[in-house]
Amino acid sequence: MLARQYIQDVYQNIGLLCFGDDYLQPFKLNGLFTDSTAYNLVGWVKGTAPEDEDVIVVSAHYDHLGSKGRRIYNGADDNASGVAAMLTLAKVIAHSPLQHHVIFLATDAEEKGLYGAKAFLAQSPVPLDNIKANLNLDMLGQGGKKRRLYLAGAKYYPQFQSLVDSAIRDAPLNLLQGHEGRARGYDRKTTIDYRDASDHAEFHELGIPYLFLSVADHRDYHTEHDTAERLDPQFLHQAAQTALMVLQRMDKTLASDPF
Ligand SMILES: [Zn+2]
Repeated sequence: MLARQYIQDVYQNIGLLCFGDDYLQPFKLNGLFTDSTAYNLVGWVKGTAPEDEDVIVVSAHYDHLGSKGRRIYNGADDNASGVAAMLTLAKVIAHSPLQHHVIFLATDAEEKGLYGAKAFLAQSPVPLDNIKANLNLDMLGQGGKKRRLYLAGAKYYPQFQSLVDSAIRDAPLNLLQGHEGRARGYDRKTTIDYRDASDHAEFHELGIPYLFLSVADHRDYHTEHDTAERLDPQFLHQAAQTALMVLQRMDKTLASDPF
């Protein structure tokens, strides 16, 4: 699979560390008729406070819907955009590490039911108690006319509220607090609940604090029209800057207030 190879190449070029021999974390997917193997891609950067083995996990899923008959679902926004942002973060953090160790996790089989995140946590390369937070990135490339990006999670983890407020103030785009609980989607007919929208739900399930960055559902979501041409490169760039800012502030918040 091209995306899988590409991400591993980038991890290697950046110089991310791996657990074991490579970046692959295989796990079984049980299908109706056949079992298959899926792969998370896991790399990490050592923190600057090595007496402290605490970890932040930055995640983005790299699988998409694949193809159905003649329809090809490219998944440019969902979630090549999140993966691109995560790789940008990995590059910056590899050059200027945080106090915490940072694991960069590209998950497989998210669209099938968050299986990659489940598998990562079930066979975590570090003790679960050391995982202090998850920053999950899913759909960062289409902010619409209003250039809106949402940051969710502080409702459940109020220790992040002042971080969220400061990020909203300083973000280079229109950053809003994501709604948890049901709210109207892009088309005003569907509802979305950011809590269960993506991989961070599995971290939340174990009580691991998360923050989640995402645009609202848009009309190309889960359609053949989710292509690279529909992305807004400037918006994606600013969304990646926002994600970096959030990650750096998460590191500071966790270091100053170990809860
Ligand atoms: Zn997604």
